[in-house]
Amino acid sequence: MKLDIQTIITAGRDLQFFCHGQARENGWWTDITTGQDLTSKGYPKINPTKNVGELLALVHSEVSEAMEGHRKLLMDDKLPNRTMLEVELADAVIRIFDMSGGLGLDVAGAIADKLEFNASRQDHRVESRRAVGGKKF
Ligand SMILES: [Mg+2]
Repeated sequence: MKLDIQTIITAGRDLQFFCHGQARENGWWTDITTGQDLTSKGYPKINPTKNVGELLALVHSEVSEAMEGHRKLLMDDKLPNRTMLEVELADAVIRIFDMSGGLGLDVAGAIADKLEFNASRQDHRVESRRAVGGKKF
């Protein structure tokens, strides 16, 4: 598969715009007591206002919910026409792009760079995976 890097970057930046924009509109990046804007740009040189560990834990919680949905083959309770697995994975992606926007990260660019890197990895090829010591999953 030939990677279209510009399409990947544009798609990621669009996701970031909408995921973070909705969270901002809903006040998740404003201190509800003081009204302080909690977004921060310049990571890692500037210490983020938000607790990054907490944001990462929220992403992890969505992945755990996806696992539980898969384990029990559940449909989602809020979107009953969809599996819990796909909705919780969507929640995880939404949280990642929200976090990326709030901290001023370039996750879209990193995805493009990583896909490009992965395309050239020898250890991801079938022959390498079949070899002794190869990645089995
Ligand atoms: Mg969820």
